[in-house]
Amino acid sequence: MDDFRAKCKKHNLKVTPQRTVIYKELLKARDHPYADEVFARVKKILPNISFDTVNRTLLTFSKVGIADVVEGRGEPKRFDPNTDRHHHFWCIKCNKIIDFEDSSLDNLKISEELQKRFTVLNQKVVLEGICNKCKNKK
Ligand SMILES: [Zn+2]
Ligand SMILES: [Zn+2]
Repeated sequence: MDDFRAKCKKHNLKVTPQRTVIYKELLKARDHPYADEVFARVKKILPNISFDTVNRTLLTFSKVGIADVVEGRGEPKRFDPNTDRHHHFWCIKCNKIIDFEDSSLDNLKISEELQKRFTVLNQKVVLEGICNKCKNKK
């Protein structure tokens, strides 16, 4: 939470009770939730909050680096409170996104060819497949 407060301060965001609850719920869930999932969780604590408020707050978080937006496939945005370097495994069956770390993926070599075309700021690998839970489900 100190990290959250520090980031808010840096970007001149007030640490409001609403923002705090939204961040806490996002942080608790390691499942890269959609905005409406975060909304459902936050609503249990703040019954009067609107979807719009939650959604706007999440987008603000992602703008200032408090959360990340998971690159989607034309589906609604998903949010990730883990802004440290990590990679994603995306299960095509249950649609879960699972975090993992792998130093060899952190250090993937970008060819000169690509470096001429793009300025790479961040390397993130997304693996797609079937998670063990789904694999073992018959
Ligand atoms: Zn799965
Ligand atoms: Zn993640």
